[in-house]
Amino acid sequence: MIKKLLIANRGEIALRILRACREMGIRTVAVHSSADRDLKHVRLADESVCIGPASSTESYLNIPAIISAAEVTDADAIHPGYGFLSENADFAERVESSGFIFVGPRAETIRLMGDKISAKEAMIKTNVPCVPGSGGAIPDDGPEALAMAEKIGYPVIIKATGGGGGRGMRVVNSSEELLESIVLTKTEARGAFGNDVVYMEKYLQTPRHIEFQVLADSHGNAIHLCERDCSMQRRNQKVVEEAPAPGITPEQRKRMGDILTKACRDIGYRGAGTFEFLYENEEFYFIEMNTRLQVEHPVSELITGIDLVKQQLLVASGEVLQIKQEDINPKGHSIECRINAEDPDNFRPSPGKVERFHLPGGLGVRVDSHVYGGYTVPPYYDSMIGKLIVHAEDRPSAIKRMQGALEEMVIEGIKTNIPLQRRILKDEAFVEGGANIHYLEKKLGL
Ligand code: ADP
Repeated sequence: MIKKLLIANRGEIALRILRACREMGIRTVAVHSSADRDLKHVRLADESVCIGPASSTESYLNIPAIISAAEVTDADAIHPGYGFLSENADFAERVESSGFIFVGPRAETIRLMGDKISAKEAMIKTNVPCVPGSGGAIPDDGPEALAMAEKIGYPVIIKATGGGGGRGMRVVNSSEELLESIVLTKTEARGAFGNDVVYMEKYLQTPRHIEFQVLADSHGNAIHLCERDCSMQRRNQKVVEEAPAPGITPEQRKRMGDILTKACRDIGYRGAGTFEFLYENEEFYFIEMNTRLQVEHPVSELITGIDLVKQQLLVASGEVLQIKQEDINPKGHSIECRINAEDPDNFRPSPGKVERFHLPGGLGVRVDSHVYGGYTVPPYYDSMIGKLIVHAEDRPSAIKRMQGALEEMVIEGIKTNIPLQRRILKDEAFVEGGANIHYLEKKLGL
């Protein structure tokens, strides 16, 4: 069993991981940049190491500094959290070749799923439903590319195989725009990702974003923890997430669950992961797999009663998964609102000193945040400063509970998106459930 864990991340997720370690009797090492000495988990960790200056390229993305910190503190495992190095196959490889456990899948799996074309090929092979498309790179030959788009049917979307974070894609509505769009996407992709391979997919016009949480051990066991709906997005960033997804039937859940747990076994998946889908006209279309813990994992924890971080640590230690699929009986409904330090009107980041910080509470209210009164939000990192999560017996009660919790929450000194979250939780289409991924931007007039 892991005895000492180095947490290679910051903010709320570092604190979340530390809490699981404390309950499991695992000692913790916090690593932080020089701008992050006051982070809550740094103070609570058994040991801490400053790994570099504020800039994340020199600290949280600095592989040699993180490996040295693990060596100096004699840690036996490294948890990457989300973002930063969590989906970097070279990092996972370096961690393992330096003799530490990487809390996540094998490096080959990260590499396979990190390239969108190879991920899609692997998924097609194991019968996961995918968006119809080019099935590989778009040919250089113009007439061939045009024929391919004609066959798929416009609109199509050109996507970079190395893309991420919602960048490196372009929608094409007609044959006149196709060849130029391919060239533009390739040029952008070369600059942004150092890889100009692009592929083509049918562009789905009003899909929802539905994703499935999976958990697998290194002995060939895999389960799913139901689905989440993350359709409330702005610029491809999730804003509100919930589980289960409104309107998804137990039969659909079981059908997808069976397909995805089989996919995990086929690709030798290990750890926690998420299969993301676009959902339109009652069909699921795979878009990508995240080979790590996700921001929105708490909504799955609340409906299943399973601590995903503890399970990650157990399977990373080589334990056999003790939970069987029949033990997963989702209860009630859970909603998460991301709380960002940003101006609710123009979405500009709003770092600075938090003067007042009053948290909501009561039955079924969870706050995952590293912020405290007097804490200064640094300007160098992501603007998310915490997550407000509720659980209740059904969706209408969960909405009521979240509305109340958002009313109670007070953060002063910096601007936050709490006013926006209050609006969303009262929005008719949100309350109705099942809005598509473009809904929020339309509502905001973007
Ligand atoms: P990234 O890795 O950049 O997040 P994804 O492949 O997950 O890229 O796609 C990000 C978002 O782009 C999706 O959530 C969806 O909004 C949009 N998108 C991607 N592919 C399609 C498609 N075929 N049809 C419609 N929208 C798409």
